[in-house]
Amino acid sequence: MKKPLLALAAILVAASAVLAQAPRTPTPSAGADHHDAAPADPFRLKPLPGNVYALYGRGGNVGFFVGPDAVLVVDSQFKDLAPGIVAQIKKVSDKPIKFLLNTHHHGDHVGGNEVFKQFAMIVAHDNVRTRMLASPADIQRDYPKQLEDAKKAGNEQMVKFFSDQIAWAKTVRIEDIPAPVMTFDSALKIHIGDETIDVWHLPPAHTDGDSVVFFERAKVLHMGDDFFNQVIPFIDTASGGSARGYLAAIDKAISKVPADAVVIPGHGEVTDVNGLKAFRQYIADVNDAAAKARAAGKSKEDFLRDVDLPAYKAWNGYKDRFKTNAAAAWDDARR
Ligand SMILES: [Zn+2]
Repeated sequence: MKKPLLALAAILVAASAVLAQAPRTPTPSAGADHHDAAPADPFRLKPLPGNVYALYGRGGNVGFFVGPDAVLVVDSQFKDLAPGIVAQIKKVSDKPIKFLLNTHHHGDHVGGNEVFKQFAMIVAHDNVRTRMLASPADIQRDYPKQLEDAKKAGNEQMVKFFSDQIAWAKTVRIEDIPAPVMTFDSALKIHIGDETIDVWHLPPAHTDGDSVVFFERAKVLHMGDDFFNQVIPFIDTASGGSARGYLAAIDKAISKVPADAVVIPGHGEVTDVNGLKAFRQYIADVNDAAAKARAAGKSKEDFLRDVDLPAYKAWNGYKDRFKTNAAAAWDDARR
């Protein structure tokens, strides 16, 4: 959000990053393909081993675990979807929803917090809370310029979006932001029945507040946005994300789980460790391309004009986000 206007899709993705902190505002619907789904019935429930479920909707994939006396949920998508998420869980279990884990602070993963906070303890990495509480100040600093640009471009949808965000940022009370109330630095365990739920903070990748969640008995890993399955990721460098950091984060996650674990990505379909490794290969290829171009003495401009990884062209978001991934990799390669 500190950068000048890029493609609309990129802006929508960046804008969605603060929807969390602005849950009263409407969700931008066009362009940001990693958020899209049919609005009528967005939900699709997938039972996984060990009483764990994946719930696809609009926004980041939800995971939940049904224990003997409590339900734990991973991520809350958007505010307007949260009641539907709760209804989907209630179809499976009448146990109380006691915990909500947020994998990171983006609006398509924490937008429903306002609903969940009424009955669940919201838990996340320290930086998730910090970034959510900072958002009114960030919006008031960054959005007036973007609002002016949107007006100049005649983009009414984004004019409304930025106007609503600024209005919200000026009036919201910090204590009303539905941020996590329990935060941790490196790791946390939650025990429900005979299941142990590990929450691990990983090296900066998608953001600097990323966590993944591992259900030990079920052998199910929820990667949050440290994994986009067959989808080109968004690397939020403005929030401390890093293209090279993605490699370290994925390697750490893989090192901690069994080879036969089921893996829920932040976006895309549920898969296995091999699916996660395919995504790691994409990240490695982007980083390699940047490092090679640097070694060959290319300028960043020339690199970004020429770079292309045809093997990943079929992945959702290649057109919108590949070049920004490459730019992030270029910037990392300098360090
Ligand atoms: Zn995200």
